Amino acid sequence: MEIAKKILICGAGIAGPTCAYWLHRYGYSVVIAERAKTLRDGGQNVDIKGAGQEVIRKMGLAEKIEARNTQEQGQKYFDAAGELVATFPKGAFGGLTADFEILRGDFAQILYEATRDICDYRFSTFVTGLTETADGVSVTFNDGTAEDFELVICAEGLNSVTRAMILGDKTELRYFGAYMAFFNIPRCPEDDNWAWTVNGIGGTFITLRPGTESHTTVLMTFLREKPDIAADDNAARKTVLLRALEGRGTIADRISAALGSVDDFYFGPMSQVHASTWSKGRFVMIGDAAHSPTPFTGEGTALALVGAYVLAGEIKGRADHRAAFEAYESLVRPYAEASQRKMNPTLIRLMHVKSGFGVAVTRLIQRFFANSSVQKMLKPSDATRAKRRRKDFHLSDYA
Ligand SMILES: Cc1cc2nc3c(=O)[nH]c(=O)nc-3n(C[C@H](O)[C@H](O)[C@H](O)COP(=O)(O)OP(=O)(O)OC[C@H]3O[C@@H](n4cnc5c(N)ncnc54)[C@H](O)[C@@H]3O)c2cc1C
Repeated sequence: MEIAKKILICGAGIAGPTCAYWLHRYGYSVVIAERAKTLRDGGQNVDIKGAGQEVIRKMGLAEKIEARNTQEQGQKYFDAAGELVATFPKGAFGGLTADFEILRGDFAQILYEATRDICDYRFSTFVTGLTETADGVSVTFNDGTAEDFELVICAEGLNSVTRAMILGDKTELRYFGAYMAFFNIPRCPEDDNWAWTVNGIGGTFITLRPGTESHTTVLMTFLREKPDIAADDNAARKTVLLRALEGRGTIADRISAALGSVDDFYFGPMSQVHASTWSKGRFVMIGDAAHSPTPFTGEGTALALVGAYVLAGEIKGRADHRAAFEAYESLVRPYAEASQRKMNPTLIRLMHVKSGFGVAVTRLIQRFFANSSVQKMLKPSDATRAKRRRKDFHLSDYA
């Protein structure tokens, strides 16, 4: 069987379709195996920062993404009773809302549409076994079929199972002491185009953000000593979420009431992925599977785009996959590790205050930073922003 230039990508999130797009441009034929039954379109806004924006531009997708900008105007902090504490308009120092905001699901959909006619997408499909042969990899799938590929790229996200099979002994999941859940709830008439954040409510952190005409997106994180909640058990997840929301005020009550109808959760321990190597033989990892920085950095999506672009470019230029994987890792690893260093368990604990004193201090800090004179002093100038952009990752022009 002809396997040269035939590549399997596992995972149709952000990294997988991006890499598929570039590999197709370079003459490879790509199969994408996605475990879910359909494209997963859940999630809140994701920022596409720095070099990630450049990848999007190179793919010719910037206009499509701009057209789906959520138009979020900024972030408001509320207390448990639903009273406004502080307001951070778009672009404010310390605020959440960036220039380039898109719902993760819309972004995944745009990438899917850009690749569905040029790749072989297989939903409800995942790898059950991999055996390396002299010139390729023999892969078995959950439906019992087997197929050979030249290379296998793992883009399965934070809790990748195929990574555990191949590089489990080289990968450490560093648990940050909290769980995270992203999901959608029905939109209410009072929802506006602002992100609403409630923290300082017994260790639970909630942000609601504008979604579509019919839904609002939820990010919920809560402290938990151990990562001990059963994976893939939606009933167990809902029970834990209801407990974390109980007695946490009006916005929390609204989420509890809507939870019954939620079925697509992005849910799991908030962990960073630290892998001592990103490849083994003909198997290589990209995106969160290789280097998840946690969602609070807001950089996981840009990292996924950059890594996918660089890996495809390095594969294109080389006959030897080992040299390609080494070049890819040596370029992207410092960028990914710099992002990971921005978040740590202490910061996570500080964001999930529990005591009355901690709550009072948090409110003071929020009001202080929201003050317009403080904002004037701290808001980066256009020159500083341009300097930061120049210091971001430099993308080679592989095409
Ligand atoms: C539904 C969902 C909602 C999200 N919401 C947010 C958000 O609101 N904010 C945020 O910062 N980040 C969110 N993320 C994570 C964010 O997308 C990633 O951090 C980042 O974009 C890197 O993307 P990725 O492609 O590496 O991983 P992901 O976007 O996580 O994509 C991984 C894909 O692989 C699939 N998969 C998993 N295991 C297998 C397997 N064994 N075989 C085949 N396929 C598999 C998953 O179903 C998923 O489609 C979300 C992810 C998902 C899946």
